[in-house]
Amino acid sequence: MAAVHPKLIESLVEQTPRAMIAMLIVSSAYFWIFIKFIPFEILVVWFVFQMFLAMYRFYNAIMFKKYLAQKTHEKIEKNELYFMISNVFQAAMWTISSVLSIVYAPQPYELVSLIMIIGIITAAALSMSSLYKAYLLFFFSMIIPQIIIMISFGEHQHIGLVVLIFIYIPATILLSRAIYNSRLSSIEANDSLEKSVNELHRLSIMDNLTNIYNRRYFFEMSKKLIATAFREQKPVSLIMLDIDLFKRVNDNYGHQAGDYILIDLVKELEKVMRKSDVFARIGGEEFTILLNNTSLEGAKVIAEKMRLTIENKVFIYNTTSIDITISIGVSELNTENTSIEDLYKQADKQLYRAKHKGRNRVCA
Ligand code: GH3
Ligand code: MG
Ligand code: MG
Repeated sequence: MAAVHPKLIESLVEQTPRAMIAMLIVSSAYFWIFIKFIPFEILVVWFVFQMFLAMYRFYNAIMFKKYLAQKTHEKIEKNELYFMISNVFQAAMWTISSVLSIVYAPQPYELVSLIMIIGIITAAALSMSSLYKAYLLFFFSMIIPQIIIMISFGEHQHIGLVVLIFIYIPATILLSRAIYNSRLSSIEANDSLEKSVNELHRLSIMDNLTNIYNRRYFFEMSKKLIATAFREQKPVSLIMLDIDLFKRVNDNYGHQAGDYILIDLVKELEKVMRKSDVFARIGGEEFTILLNNTSLEGAKVIAEKMRLTIENKVFIYNTTSIDITISIGVSELNTENTSIEDLYKQADKQLYRAKHKGRNRVCA
């Protein structure tokens, strides 16, 4: 079975309570109309079965919800199959209701159940066409016995009704198909809008080349984290790093080699970081890392680890080995540095010192 869009199943689940209440109302109407003719015990048994089927449909809808949340496709497909089987049973129950009305009630009461059945399958076009195959199966399991019953009467008016049913069938199928198509296209339009919004958001916060946060998002995020750290009285540190003599890498090996190193450097540094650290590219070959819950001493240790990792790493671009080093400035949130701007300025000052002292070192 081809996978049905989860949102179509969600819409079916949503419609289930309304559809089942309607089904029980129609069943009660049938009960009330035919109580005069059909033996009470038979009617009660029929009604109990209808209630049981309605209860099963509720259970089936709950299972759909559960499997959709778990994203277990095989179970969803199995539940679809059970849904279809329960609908065939439902159709059988209505066929039985027709047979009972023919056996026990005088003519033209057989028309009452025919009208009920036509009403049910028309309404089901709304509630069930999200699972289109299941709807078709239900539709034909309901209508074919009615055609057979009407033909078996063989009277002029019954044959006339069969002709009308044959006009009704394509009209209702087209209607249910139109409902299905419009539901599906609105779901697909929503999906693509959601994707575009997510992509737009991603583009607005990420750096294109290295796929880490960009400068704008770094400052936005840092402001929030620093506010929380102040409130909770927890330390926060900032690492600022810059590749040493990166211009030379571009000059000697080309800009593409430079880009490759930027991407690979980010991957190396990520190995040394924790998930809670906020890592961003704030300029061409300059990066910042905001370390939550980390004092200056702790940040210095991490910075030194980063420096050593890059010093020892041999970057290989198109079989050419390239060695690079980084300089790092570290700062800490304290009474003097109270904002991300202060932290940034202080780390930048330390980075400048590291460069001035001969590069490939950490200053704090
Ligand atoms: P220093 O040790 O003083 O930092 O020397 P440097 O050469 O790294 O510093 P400078 O600021 O003079 O040069 C930075 C270079 O980084 C210049 C530019 O060509 C390069 N760069 C900036 N952004 C990119 C980029 O996206 N890709 C590549 N390949 N190079 C970049
Ligand atoms: Mg540099
Ligand atoms: Mg620079």
